[in-house]
Amino acid sequence: MAAANARGVAVPPSLGTAVVTCMDSRIDVFALFGLALGEVHVLRNAGGVVTDDVVRSLTISQRKLRTRDIIVVQHSGCGLATFTDHQFTEELAEETGRRPQWRTHAFDSPETSVRRDIVQLRHETFLHPDTVVRGFVLDIDNFRLQEVFVAGDDAR
Ligand SMILES: [Zn+2]
Repeated sequence: MAAANARGVAVPPSLGTAVVTCMDSRIDVFALFGLALGEVHVLRNAGGVVTDDVVRSLTISQRKLRTRDIIVVQHSGCGLATFTDHQFTEELAEETGRRPQWRTHAFDSPETSVRRDIVQLRHETFLHPDTVVRGFVLDIDNFRLQEVFVAGDDAR
């Protein structure tokens, strides 16, 4: 259950972990992993994808608040699988006369997207070299988590 307040809860996450996931209203990160207040950082955006701003937050999380491990969770039934980057950009341009400076990071398959994001995070210059990055796809229908591995990973 949610704590009444954060009194006595240390600012650095006690599990030393940051979770990157989608803003989808059906995902309760704390319930999903059985977490309590103060245990992890949670970074959310459309898709749970690794963007420049996610890297910014993860770098601060690691360098200033002593986290190390990163978990990326994307999911089935995600809105980002319902359009392409090109389509969305063209829609916006048609309506507003301008193209966004950012990319949507739309994807066909959450597995492929998680795999790309794991690889990207493992090569980020400002993250600690001993960072453990793991990725999962959440089945939104039954809340099961399937781990995603990258070619060359040791079987866990
Ligand atoms: Zn989503």
